[in-house]
Amino acid sequence: MTKEQWLAIKSHDPKYDGKFFYAVKTSKAVCRPSCHAKSCKPDNVIIFNTLEDAFNAGYHPCNRCRPDIPEWKGAKHAVATRAREYIENHFTEKITLDEMEKDLYIDKIYLSKCFKEVMGETLLHYHHLVRCNHACEMLPNPELNIDIISSRVGYSTSSHFARIFRSIYHCSPTEYRKRYLGSLDRS
Ligand SMILES: [Zn+2]
Repeated sequence: MTKEQWLAIKSHDPKYDGKFFYAVKTSKAVCRPSCHAKSCKPDNVIIFNTLEDAFNAGYHPCNRCRPDIPEWKGAKHAVATRAREYIENHFTEKITLDEMEKDLYIDKIYLSKCFKEVMGETLLHYHHLVRCNHACEMLPNPELNIDIISSRVGYSTSSHFARIFRSIYHCSPTEYRKRYLGSLDRS
């Protein structure tokens, strides 16, 4: 290992990702230079130029930096993505943090923290956003009344739906529909 490589590992420098991999003898894990896994002693580090060499030497990919998945953006990102997909697949249901924790096997506090950090908003707000986006797809259809749309996207009352919708789109669902249909008339 060169001094430059050791410095890259110590500082978790992402510039070196892809240039080399390092394995830790004690944990048997192979990492990208940018990995934030627990710090290691230089004596325990082995450098590999390719992942294949590391695998052949009996090392496995680190769970945290996943060098075997090039598009891996980190554990928090993965948690946030799973939460996002969960909400998108269950948006019509009443989603609770306890249920998400149970279904995803991820601690609910960690889950909401990762989501907020990566997505920049809360799980609850995202849930409303997904519901309202789906409502927007139905609103242009004049045959569907607002009550039906409201319940189809998961709200138990249309007044709750209208309140949330207004907070996101700054207009009522009816106004949204009128504007949409009005813009069609003009075109
Ligand atoms: Zn790692």
